[in-house]
Amino acid sequence: MCVPGSNTIFLRLEAPLQAWGDTSKFVIRRSMEAPTKSGLLGLVCCAMGWSRRKVAEDPIPDQNLHDLAQRLIKHDEKSQREPRRALLDLLNTLTMGVRMDRPGTRWWDYHTVGARIGMTTAAGGPPKTGAKGTVIKRLEYLADASFLVALQGDAILIGTVAEALRSPKWQLYLGRKSCPPSIPVLVTRRRDDGSLEPMIEEHASLETALSSLSLPWRPRHEENLREDDRVRRNGQPREKWKIALDYIWEWRRTGAEPVAPPDAEVWYDVPFSFDPPVHHPRLVRRDQVTVRVGDALQQHTPPPPRPRANYTNPQWTSEELVEVVDERTGEVTREPFGARPRRLRRDRGLCVFCKSPATTIQHVTYRRAGGNEAQEDLRSLCRLCHDAVTMIEYGLGMGLDRIDPCDVRWRDDILRTRGEIVRFRSEETRRRALRDAPQRVRREMLEEEDN
Ligand SMILES: [Zn+2]
Repeated sequence: MCVPGSNTIFLRLEAPLQAWGDTSKFVIRRSMEAPTKSGLLGLVCCAMGWSRRKVAEDPIPDQNLHDLAQRLIKHDEKSQREPRRALLDLLNTLTMGVRMDRPGTRWWDYHTVGARIGMTTAAGGPPKTGAKGTVIKRLEYLADASFLVALQGDAILIGTVAEALRSPKWQLYLGRKSCPPSIPVLVTRRRDDGSLEPMIEEHASLETALSSLSLPWRPRHEENLREDDRVRRNGQPREKWKIALDYIWEWRRTGAEPVAPPDAEVWYDVPFSFDPPVHHPRLVRRDQVTVRVGDALQQHTPPPPRPRANYTNPQWTSEELVEVVDERTGEVTREPFGARPRRLRRDRGLCVFCKSPATTIQHVTYRRAGGNEAQEDLRSLCRLCHDAVTMIEYGLGMGLDRIDPCDVRWRDDILRTRGEIVRFRSEETRRRALRDAPQRVRREMLEEEDN
């Protein structure tokens, strides 16, 4: 495992959806449980701006990378053949380990392609689908997963990859083009001057890289931590808590370990060609690393303070008559001190919508609620109209600003909802009457028997 002078970069693969396709093709496309090597190297190629065709070009057009490939790509002793010296083979010299920080939830997507409408291809080419009708596909995704990938290899190559990931040429995606990452893929650290630099570290193995102290596991919220029984607390203070995480790492033949151990798995995900897709096998192993528990990723943001009506405040309730000066006319009248009785009196005690006797007051806005309500914030309503208005408001999830029943735009909605309420109430009254009927009849019969 240990390559002297090897360097390591880290990638954080986190998104609402990711999909690491295995060899499945056609209409059912599954996802592996962790990022595949072909998916990850595809992502690196996107960052580099290398097309599918360019990565298979042999020899490599770039002189520096060509020299690097001459040095790194080993002669195949078994077949006695010269290996290819293509960019993809160069990237394949890197080994990868994946720490499963959050395995995610498997999720299926029902997917249709074309419907005889002749969709053009993403590259703008001629329509590919449509002639044979709709293709129905099932695509599997990992929802809400988070992986930490360590990519290890030659220092020059690692530096080149890090630079590309820092400012990618093309849009990066996690396995499928519909899965953009939700945070920058390359793990960086802050320099003393505040700027960010790629985190490139020396590590003897992928295991030491993935258990690195500088890359703790982070819970989503601090609250999640309390419920997580994988966290080892051991009666220690919070900063000493640890967690054991599964990781999958790539096994390579070495002088010390020439034969793969029996628990090694074969993954067919080493890209030999992206177009057409040709994959070669590699051996991976599973293990656990123990890492520090870091700070929570997200902080709960309290909702902004919201003014509420205060129905006990005298500013709202008091019926005491005081002298009020009209702002426009300067006329002095005696009106109730509280905003509620004053509104009712100004509306002549009638519902502003249906002119029935008003018993309630509607807040058109809650912005001054709590005692500072202005008269224009309020409307007198009867019980039925108020219920109708409130129902519409709840249905729409309205915030501080509510429905003005005097606004003609709401007229039809309020009328319809009033009708629904009346209908429901009369049905409910009948239902109750019917429900109680057998008991009443039985009781009357028993009373007759007693007599
Ligand atoms: Zn009314």
